[in-house]
Amino acid sequence: MKKADCIFCKIANGEIPSRTIYEDEQFRVILDLSPATKGHALILPKEHADNLFELPEDVATDAMKVAKKVGALLRDKLNADGLNLVQNNGAEAGQTVMHFHLHLIPRYKEDGQNINWNPTAPSAEELDTICKQIVE
Ligand code: AMP
Ligand code: ZN
Repeated sequence: MKKADCIFCKIANGEIPSRTIYEDEQFRVILDLSPATKGHALILPKEHADNLFELPEDVATDAMKVAKKVGALLRDKLNADGLNLVQNNGAEAGQTVMHFHLHLIPRYKEDGQNINWNPTAPSAEELDTICKQIVE
């Protein structure tokens, strides 16, 4: 289903023009308007889902196949040295457009970007507690 007033629904379904680099029945892949690096692209499912939790399992599987295909295209055509996949869910995680999208960010030597987190140093006991909390 498409969602009214969702900009990525409109882009994915061709109602708003975009710089499309790949399209199939389920997805459109577009260039990000404010790219982190040259070729930064977004995989957009044509069916609306707010985030990964709402995305049907088969669409999630197919999104990764598209990531593999278009990631290789970016690497080969733009001579990228690496590739980050980034996928934010929820405002607290940095999601600003509430239609699932998977970022493909080609990386280049000395591109000046830092797509990372600050590592923390929990104790072994703390890690054990978290592990139990998740598994039990
Ligand atoms: P996120 O923070 O994961 O929700 O990422 C949203 C991304 O969408 C950002 O990188 C924006 O630059 C990008 N973006 C927002 N609107 C558009 C648009 N109309 N066309 C292309 N990219 C967009
Ligand atoms: Zn949408």
